[in-house]
Amino acid sequence: MELTKNFDSVIDFKLGADAPQWLFDMAYLHAVRLQRIRDHFKVPIKVTSFYRSPEYNQGIKYAAKRSLHTRGLAVDITVKDKDRDLLLFIFDYCKKSLDYGELFIYELPDGTLDSIHISLPALNNYKETLRYIKGADGKLIRKP
Ligand SMILES: [Zn+2]
Repeated sequence: MELTKNFDSVIDFKLGADAPQWLFDMAYLHAVRLQRIRDHFKVPIKVTSFYRSPEYNQGIKYAAKRSLHTRGLAVDITVKDKDRDLLLFIFDYCKKSLDYGELFIYELPDGTLDSIHISLPALNNYKETLRYIKGADGKLIRKP
C-alpha cells in the first residue's frame, strides 16, 4: 500500500496484509517524515529496519532490550553505497528539521557509516542524539 509518494507499507516497511492497523499507522507517520528527507535530498532512502517483535529483537545484535523498534516507534535508514557525506548531511538535517525521540548514527569498526536510527517522539525519549560504533563484540560503543 502506498503511504506517501516514495514509501510503501510492503516494499519499504515490510508489512504484510495481516499486520495490525497500528503498525500501518506508525509506518505512515515514519513515511511522512522520510518523504521530507527524500524530497529535501532527492535521493532514495532505504528503510533497513522498522518494527521488531520483542522476541525477534532479543535475538539481534546491537539491539537495545527496550528498543523503540519493538513499539514501532523507530526506523533505521541508509542510502546507496552508505555514502558517508550524505548520511552525515541527513543526520544533520534530521537534527535541525525533525521532531524526534532518538536520533542515532551508527558507524562500523572500520569507520564507515552504516545507518541512521530515527524515532518518533516517545514517552521518556526526547531529542536524544548520539553516535555509536557497532563494536566487533556485538555491543554498541558510544562516541562523544
Ligand atoms: Zn534502530
